[in-house]
Amino acid sequence: MTASPPAPRLVIGIDLGTTNSLAAIRAGRGARVLRDKDGEPLIPSIVCFHPDGRTIVGREAKALRLSFPERTVFSAKRLIGRAGAEVDREARLLPYRVHRGERDLARIAVADHDYAPEQIAAMVLQKVKSTAEHALGQPVSAAVITVPAWFDDGQRQATRDAAHLAGLECLRIVNEPTAASLAYGIDGSKDGTVLVYDLGGGTFDVSILRIDSGVFRVLATSGDTHLGGDDFDQLLVERILGAVSVAAPDPYMLQAVRAAAEGLKITLSSATTATLRLELDGHAPLDIKIDRAEFEGLLAPYLQRTLACCRRALSDASLTAAQIDDVVLVGGSTRIPMVRHLLHAELGRAPHTGVDPDLAVALGAAIQADVLAGNDKSLLLLDVIPLSLGIETLGGAMQKLILRNSTIPTSATEEFSIAVEGQTAVALNIYQGERELVRDCRQLGSFTLHGLPPMPAGLPRIAVTFLVDADGVLRVTAIEQRTGHEASIQVVPTFGLSRDEVRRMMLDSIENAQSDYVAREAIDLRNKAQAMVSGTRKALQLASLPPDQTFAVQKSARALEKLLQADADASSLKAATEELSKLTATIADDVISSAVKRALGDEQSHS
Ligand code: AMP
Repeated sequence: MTASPPAPRLVIGIDLGTTNSLAAIRAGRGARVLRDKDGEPLIPSIVCFHPDGRTIVGREAKALRLSFPERTVFSAKRLIGRAGAEVDREARLLPYRVHRGERDLARIAVADHDYAPEQIAAMVLQKVKSTAEHALGQPVSAAVITVPAWFDDGQRQATRDAAHLAGLECLRIVNEPTAASLAYGIDGSKDGTVLVYDLGGGTFDVSILRIDSGVFRVLATSGDTHLGGDDFDQLLVERILGAVSVAAPDPYMLQAVRAAAEGLKITLSSATTATLRLELDGHAPLDIKIDRAEFEGLLAPYLQRTLACCRRALSDASLTAAQIDDVVLVGGSTRIPMVRHLLHAELGRAPHTGVDPDLAVALGAAIQADVLAGNDKSLLLLDVIPLSLGIETLGGAMQKLILRNSTIPTSATEEFSIAVEGQTAVALNIYQGERELVRDCRQLGSFTLHGLPPMPAGLPRIAVTFLVDADGVLRVTAIEQRTGHEASIQVVPTFGLSRDEVRRMMLDSIENAQSDYVAREAIDLRNKAQAMVSGTRKALQLASLPPDQTFAVQKSARALEKLLQADADASSLKAATEELSKLTATIADDVISSAVKRALGDEQSHS
């Protein structure tokens, strides 16, 4: 009997988009999208809970949006893994009800049911899955799913959860810009630096990736959450309303004008003039004519903002425009000719235009899916984490274990001790952010390491390990080294971060670097002084010093304690700590070894 080679594993790539979702599969050197029975690749990411009890997903649900606005959920991706407070403003504009649920996470209420945004995402994924199964004629159980590069840990986890709920094994979460570059045939066989310019309906993103021997690394990302095709439509809406001269248009009229505006905009991408006859109730038919030059004049300030983001990303990546080897376009609004011209002028090279910008992300995900299925071994994708991760130490300082922009998967271990004598449990608070103090960072979670034997402060050696897997999901483990006691959690964030917040936190950290440094130093100094005072007291009990030396040490310790109580300034604390440290230097070794012996003795007598 001869063994036949294993059949290639079927893994699809899925672009789970805010507006539309779609699936693709590897085909030859590239990939192809999977279409529904009508030949349509795009599945609107919309779920309608029909009053007759049916749950309808996709195009049909989109058509029901106007009939059942409170029962039709769209743009759920904007809510995924985010706190209610973060989406309050956005939620007020939505026709369906968003409220705050457990751990303050945003939830969606429809009739008497309550859904997590990831449940809605799961329904969309299920529709994508069944469309793919229909197109392929076989079951699909595994996928690579893309997310924006700026999605935080919570949002990535929520996306994985959605896949799980949909009955899909999510083999990898991949950043959208990385997937897009793969689709453009930037397959890692040639080293270089790629700028991915993603201008969709509501948001703009730019990412800079470095490809080195088949490894894709995100060097920097930037963007604007409120910049995209919707704004361009609005420019034309205002232009049309100006011509209609209506003081207060009603919602139905606005809807009609908006649809007309989008139509004009799309025509202007292929023609130099666009005309439209608008027939509004109670008004004479109106012929609107606009030429591309006029539209471009209106667009210019918006497109300049996208260029400013590109410059920021370049500067974050310490690169110049001349060092970009390829420019890749994603998102429907990159079809606007002016976008392409401006980018060409800014970066000195014509952007790639060979791939449909709506399909690029899914096609790239399919290529990566094939790699993970083990069918293509020539590529490796590496992404980075957007914000530093660390734990709270004494006095509210943020001790970073993994720095922002570290390539994932990654791990780091550091040793910590306890601050209070005899403490048998230690709480570990995990934070994300760039600032020096935890109060300026975002808490991701916390857990407690129990069962420590009572020991003097400073003696337990607790090794804390942060492990971020290839999907950007964090697991934290703490082990007391001598006893082997262990506790760990997979971090489920208290709530997610919006991209604006990630950016704001990064900018804040730069702006406040100096004051943070001073505040952090003051905390470290106080902690050190406090430890010196209590350590010295204990040392004096354990060591047998001549009386004059004991007196000098006691005096110096008391002086330092007084300064601490009086909240003295950093320089006096520093001087007094140094003085006490000098006085006690000779007895330190002796005392430490007796303390260790005592602690071990204590533990044996406890066991
Ligand atoms: P996306 O979010 O990537 O699906 O992009 C959707 C946006 O692209 C919407 O604002 C569309 O109006 C816009 N769009 C699609 N096709 C074109 C086109 N040919 N010219 C200009 N904008 C377009």
